Amino acid sequence: MISKIIASKKITQVEELLNKYDKIVIVTHVSPDGDAIGSSLGLYHYLNDLGNNVNVIVPNSFPDFLKWIPGSKEIIDYERYTEFAQRLLSEAELIFCLDFNIPKRTYLMAQALEAAKGKKVLIDHHPDPSDFCDVVISYPEISSTSELIFRLICRMGDFEAMSFESATALYTGMMTDTGAFTYNSNNAEIYYIIGELLKKGINKDQIYSNVYHNYSEDRYRMLGYTLCDKMKIYPEYNAALIWLTNEEQKRFHVKKGDTEGFANMPLNIKGIIFSVFIREDNDFIKISFRSQGDFPSNRFASECYNGGGHLNAAGGEFYGTMDEAIAIFEKGLSEFGDLLKKNKTKI
Ligand code: 5GP
Ligand code: MN
Repeated sequence: MISKIIASKKITQVEELLNKYDKIVIVTHVSPDGDAIGSSLGLYHYLNDLGNNVNVIVPNSFPDFLKWIPGSKEIIDYERYTEFAQRLLSEAELIFCLDFNIPKRTYLMAQALEAAKGKKVLIDHHPDPSDFCDVVISYPEISSTSELIFRLICRMGDFEAMSFESATALYTGMMTDTGAFTYNSNNAEIYYIIGELLKKGINKDQIYSNVYHNYSEDRYRMLGYTLCDKMKIYPEYNAALIWLTNEEQKRFHVKKGDTEGFANMPLNIKGIIFSVFIREDNDFIKISFRSQGDFPSNRFASECYNGGGHLNAAGGEFYGTMDEAIAIFEKGLSEFGDLLKKNKTKI
């Protein structure tokens, strides 16, 4: 048995909405990651199997290494099929908002999402959700939204009904949001849930391989270049910076998802507890933060770049030059200096 994390009142509210409505849309955040796609498809299969009319809409495209997940071909890309997606959103009776806490995280879709008249249910694990949904299921202490979907389905008494496809999607989300259970994954119940998913017939070794053994040669060469030529270590702050320009990414024919995981790499270096990856993304700059121990990368992201996220994985956007973005980072290092210097990973 797993403990009852989601409040009973919330479960009842979702059950009531599902009894009343069957025209359902599931949405998730921009540049969807494994948990965004995994939780969306996990819920999609479950609701679809119950006979609902369900569509998953993502704000923009997602990486190839997630395109094997059952149901991924049904996902609608808002950026490519804007009008169709807008119609689905405006006609939906019920909208599940998964793995994000503020409408802005759905990028170009935010306006259409906020204007949609359907009842909205938020299911997420990012801190400080804004007030845009009718039912808010927000548990930042849970390591993935996919785990929350598993818990929701079980609490509605439907573990038996969960399909292999749903279980596969949910495992993928739980795995990717914890770096294959290497961080944010000390809760014993995670492993109980994995046991339950294995009973559904999922092939966890194959899922690992589908996600992590699926990169292009270009990505690997770009990673080598980045770590060799574009990494700066700040030993006094136990921190590291890597950065890539548009031109460098073009040189390696970068595709969606090719830089996934780069931000984590400098944490492999002994003593480094804070790693930042600054990357030009056409007309703006995307910044990814990763930390170990209790250094709050989300606070750094919000104070320096108006971003946010989790304690150990956060992000932000910057509109300006690469040099300016780096200068802000270095200023942030000195501002957070005391925390960085004293922060040592605990065993
Ligand atoms: P990533 O570095 O993988 O893009 O993002 C890591 C985490 O940071 C995400 O799970 C998300 O919680 C958060 N995040 C990424 N980008 C942004 C952003 O621009 N704004 C906010 N508020 N959070 C972000
Ligand atoms: Mn997540």
